[in-house]
Amino acid sequence: MELNICHLYPDLLDLYGDRGNILALAARCRWRGIEPVIQQASLGEALDFMRMDILFLGGGSDREQGLLVQDLMRREKELRSAIENGLVVLSICGGYQMLGRYYQMASGEKIQGLGIIDIWTVAGAKRLIGNVVVEIEIDKSFRTLVGFENHSGKTYLGEGIRPLGKVLFGHGNNGDNREEGVHYRNVFGTYMHGPLLPKNPLFTDMLLELAMLRRGSNTRLKELDDRLEELAHKAMVKRLLK
Ligand code: GLN
Repeated sequence: MELNICHLYPDLLDLYGDRGNILALAARCRWRGIEPVIQQASLGEALDFMRMDILFLGGGSDREQGLLVQDLMRREKELRSAIENGLVVLSICGGYQMLGRYYQMASGEKIQGLGIIDIWTVAGAKRLIGNVVVEIEIDKSFRTLVGFENHSGKTYLGEGIRPLGKVLFGHGNNGDNREEGVHYRNVFGTYMHGPLLPKNPLFTDMLLELAMLRRGSNTRLKELDDRLEELAHKAMVKRLLK
């Protein structure tokens, strides 16, 4: 079996090790005999969202968001239908903001977003930086995610839009309401860099399982030996929540 994973704008959206998320997805596929087919696409390059299993959008500064917005808007219709069709998307920070209605920079100027999810972002006076621990629900049990955030944007969710999780340590979406990220259909938006997936193998597997389920395969993923990953994860949780 193959899984098609696409890193969109790898040259513009890739901060604080974001590319490690692609490496983690690919490694955890390979370790189970699933072949990851990695595709990269940037400005002006052709893409077929319908043939994709997982789309990854990393973080980028305001400058990069401004550079890619026109190209991204050109892809809005196709991406929207793929998302409504269950495409698995992981989007971090700048990429996460671009899925929403707009990002208003500190100058007051707005960068238009795709508007696929009813969220919006406004730059605050102080940057929200540091390690984060977030509680999310996976398979009906509460688990933690660890990551690192660095953003000035404060993101707000429209009515009925669910956050990804609850902030146990750090700032999250806006530093005010203890909410972190967004979860809409199979789209996961978050401020967690780090990179997120190598630090949180459980979450990585959840994305892989969703992608496989969409392909019609409901076999559970083979267990892997995650002792080292779990130790690293626990060490961060312990340090931050002590
Ligand atoms: N430019 C955005 C902000 O500062 C995103 C930053 C990022 O992706 N780390 O809010």
